Amino acid sequence: MRIVLVGPPGAGKGTQATVLSRKLDIPHVSTGDLFREHIGRQTLLGQEAKQYLDAGDLVPDHITNGMVRQRLGEPDARRGFLLDGFPRTVEQAEELSGMLAEAGAELDAVVELTVPEDVVVERLLGRGRPDDTEGVIRRRQQVYRTQTAPLLEHYAGLLRTVQAVGPVEEITSRALGALPHHHRVA
Ligand code: ADP
Repeated sequence: MRIVLVGPPGAGKGTQATVLSRKLDIPHVSTGDLFREHIGRQTLLGQEAKQYLDAGDLVPDHITNGMVRQRLGEPDARRGFLLDGFPRTVEQAEELSGMLAEAGAELDAVVELTVPEDVVVERLLGRGRPDDTEGVIRRRQQVYRTQTAPLLEHYAGLLRTVQAVGPVEEITSRALGALPHHHRVA
């Protein structure tokens, strides 16, 4: 099963992706985590990406797309994945369909987590990641509204919207229940 998870920063994508990937037995591929890993290891890619993460801006596509292509080409991701943080623009979505088409694969669902914006800012301020300062959080929200929200229309046919306020387990059940029927697990 191939799933994309979309939602504003602070919607709980990472938390849900971790649980869902375990329940569905598919790897959780988070571009944010991959970037932070590269930055931690001080790879060239990490050095190039760092300034964008620090500012809350999107890392340019020529860096991001290659990283995703490589990750999705690894053996564990061949039979399915839960993508968290990619695509974040319509251009990236087109890039992803190209990658999948080459492998004769396609997406099964795009799950959108929705949360009111005041809840989101509250959650992020409590998280304490280095890019979770108020200015950078605001910038990431703005990037989401202008660059990522248009994806929802692009994916209209595959989109499943899940209200992401409430206990973690309840949101997980809603997300599982929103998946195409033949893919549901108990
Ligand atoms: P959040 O969802 O809270 O913004 P992420 O961990 O998903 O956190 O992303 C952190 C940062 O990583 C983003 O602000 C951006 O700089 C970079 N990033 C992640 N995914 C992408 C992507 N698909 N394209 C460009 N930049 C990305």
